[in-house]
Amino acid sequence: MNRKIILLIIVLLIFSVALFTQIKTVHDDNDEFKITHEIIANDSLGSVEVIRNIGNPNSPKIAYVVGVHPLENDTHNTFLKILPNLTNLNYSYDIYVINVTLDFSQYGQLLPDDEPGRQTGQELALKYVYPAILNGSYELVVDVHAHGGAYGDHNTFVFSPVEGSLGESYAVAVSNDTENVSYYNPQFTTSGPYLTVPLNENGVPAFYYEENSFFSQDIKDVHMLELIYAVDSLKFN
Ligand SMILES: [Zn+2]
Repeated sequence: MNRKIILLIIVLLIFSVALFTQIKTVHDDNDEFKITHEIIANDSLGSVEVIRNIGNPNSPKIAYVVGVHPLENDTHNTFLKILPNLTNLNYSYDIYVINVTLDFSQYGQLLPDDEPGRQTGQELALKYVYPAILNGSYELVVDVHAHGGAYGDHNTFVFSPVEGSLGESYAVAVSNDTENVSYYNPQFTTSGPYLTVPLNENGVPAFYYEENSFFSQDIKDVHMLELIYAVDSLKFN
């Protein structure tokens, strides 16, 4: 065979191998980084689902938790509607969704919030969400709540129940970086001991986001976006 033809065949072979490798790499990347849904717990009290890999998968990880207090599901739904659809986020996000099967009613229909679902959500948080987050290599955890106007002038705020914690520093930074989210520590929480307190005390910074449940959906959307982008702009050491 002519030497030129042999050379051409060799070049073509190398080129096809290179092309195949490239296609395979791109394909693997997509598989690894696509958003996934996983049920990590399911018992008679309810279930916990984790939505993973939102945002930039090569960046530090942040966890959001929704559903600790099932009555407050208006902000949970607001959050779930917005975050997974945002592009160009700096960090990688996992969302822990607690679904309680017991009664929890709705704001406007039942106040105070004393249905058994409230305690159940807290117990699911401690039993399943807390250990998963503790072992999940997260830089920060944000626990999303709503309230029925119980805090006077304080409607939309963040805080860490553990004073002097790194979670408190991040919450203060978020409040400084937002127009409508302030820092306010009400000094009392029912759910703190079930999630944000033990997280802060065991090396995982965590803070609450609280929103007034009676604000219009448009306002809730604006405030939620402020929270999300301020968290996405935090600097981790
Ligand atoms: Zn709450």
